[in-house]
Amino acid sequence: GTMSLFRFTKSTPLGASLVKRCMSTAERRRCAVVTGSTSGIGRGIAERLARAGYNVVLNGFGNPEQIEELRSAMENDHGVDVRYHGADMSKPAEIKDLISEAATVFGGVDVLVNNAGIQVVSPIEDFPEDAYEKIIAINLSSCFYTTKYSIPHMKKHGWGRIINIASAHAKRASKFKSAYVAAKHGVAGLTKTVALEMGPHSITSNAVCPGYVLTELVEKQIPITAEARGITEEEVVQNVMLGNQPTGEFVGIEELSGLVEFLCTNEARSVNGAILSVDGGWTAQ
Ligand code: NAD
Repeated sequence: GTMSLFRFTKSTPLGASLVKRCMSTAERRRCAVVTGSTSGIGRGIAERLARAGYNVVLNGFGNPEQIEELRSAMENDHGVDVRYHGADMSKPAEIKDLISEAATVFGGVDVLVNNAGIQVVSPIEDFPEDAYEKIIAINLSSCFYTTKYSIPHMKKHGWGRIINIASAHAKRASKFKSAYVAAKHGVAGLTKTVALEMGPHSITSNAVCPGYVLTELVEKQIPITAEARGITEEEVVQNVMLGNQPTGEFVGIEELSGLVEFLCTNEARSVNGAILSVDGGWTAQ
């Protein structure tokens, strides 16, 4: 298909110009929407898909100048079009606007990566109720809305990839993460249901389940978890986080984006409804 032609030829200048002409006339360049892509895992996935030749829609919070810097650097580095949409993933109306704008600008939504997520760590009896509602909205319900709104665009082109960045917590629980574990288990259920419904349409739905990745989200948890469990920060990293992962190492962002890139290929068309662990062996236990 187009994507493999692009990858094969883009290493030579002649190939690159040939591909650019082919894609601008005969075939449209596919569009990937990555939620929560201003930082961490989502940013790594967005950059990887830009490198693979997708037009990208970035989303997430942050300093507007830094976001613009990221957006224009991605365009310059990879020769694709990159847009930013600031939809708040807890607001269905804003999600609707994100998807319809992506489809208008790029002629479709071909790859949807649901990655935006937050974490709050607290014993359940003290768990702030507004934090519970927010985690369910951002980590779970947003995936329902982005998926619902993207599917008509995918069906139009007869092809689509929905990839939910869930977590090892889609399969296992940890103390003090009631809302997050509930949301991520929910994402696994949504992923499987969409896989059944979309199977006949060449649209796949899969979940990628990272173990601990050293991003802002995890860095913030270290002092909080130390406090909640009455242990040192070093003990949180070694025992609570890496203690679960037989490799004894954090998962790298490139390991996750590499799997996402593979899921977007045609060779991955039979990987559907899979809840894929990338956790150093944590959930093998
Ligand atoms: P991060 O905090 O570095 O990035 C989160 C991204 O989501 C940011 O771009 C942020 O702006 C965005 N975001 C937050 N709230 C949003 C909202 N309401 N609307 C739109 N965007 C919003 O976190 P990360 O570690 O890269 O996490 C990304 C995903 O991976 C999350 O779903 C998380 O649950 C999951 N995950 C992370 C780890 C880990 O160890 N870091 C492990 C398993 C799963």
